[in-house]
Amino acid sequence: MPQPVFRFAPSPNGRLHLGHAYSALLNESWARRVDGRLLLRIEDIDTTRCRPEFERSIHEDLAWLGLKWEKPVRRQSEHFEDYRQAFKKLRCRGLLYPCFCSRKEIAATVTSDCGKDPDGAFLYGGSCRNLTDHTRHQRMAAGDRHSWRLDMTEALRQVAVPLEFSSFSCEGVETRRCSPGRWGDPIIVRKEVPTSYHLSVVLDDALQGVTHIVRGNDLEAATDLHVLLQKLLDLPTPRYLHHDLILGGRGEKLSKSLGSEALSDLRLRGVSAGKIRQELGFASY
Ligand code: GLU
Repeated sequence: MPQPVFRFAPSPNGRLHLGHAYSALLNESWARRVDGRLLLRIEDIDTTRCRPEFERSIHEDLAWLGLKWEKPVRRQSEHFEDYRQAFKKLRCRGLLYPCFCSRKEIAATVTSDCGKDPDGAFLYGGSCRNLTDHTRHQRMAAGDRHSWRLDMTEALRQVAVPLEFSSFSCEGVETRRCSPGRWGDPIIVRKEVPTSYHLSVVLDDALQGVTHIVRGNDLEAATDLHVLLQKLLDLPTPRYLHHDLILGGRGEKLSKSLGSEALSDLRLRGVSAGKIRQELGFASY
């Protein structure tokens, strides 16, 4: 059995809060339990929202919590070429099409009977799926900005087997069936960067040999899409644990954008890392 590999993969677009601390500590605790390795990955493809000071703060907060991770740390913004290669592979298999629609145009076509994806966004109606190759080439040659969407029908046709992954917990391992079709035709390469969260996370987990993914259950539905991409790119499927989220005092989901208290603020207020570990249910050492 190869040594298990875990990773904590935050995005430096804000300061870490208690929810991140819980996820990072749960990764650490599982890695210890099964004698695994722990990696940190900086998911900074969103070059407009990610900032160096947030990245610095991730390192400081995690070190303060007592976590140790392997070096060098993979920063996604340094690996756009890897994502381009994965994009080419999917494109060569006829799985992607360019989408020239703006957000406004998509919103204008939405009707009350349009379905929604698991994140609550309306499913793409697919107008660009039906463009002729001639129109696509013309518009691309004219420099029309476009994203690349996965043709879900074609993807499911090519995979042709039921998709599943192993979900692990303290109780053991169980098999979960995936329904990636509920994502419609998702964006795999965004307009402004040569990748997307879904493409880079799947590729990086494989390139870094990650065998066990411990992350919040807000990403559970995304796993269905990730397993599909793994199959399409001939990559292994890790085991997954989707943990409950730490909620705020009013039962709300913690969020950087909603201003949930940052770990760095707790630290400044004099709260000790040991206390945080204890409150989140982890032993201090
Ligand atoms: N970068 C993602 C986030 O900060 C997590 C990705 C993952 O764990 O797969 O929400």
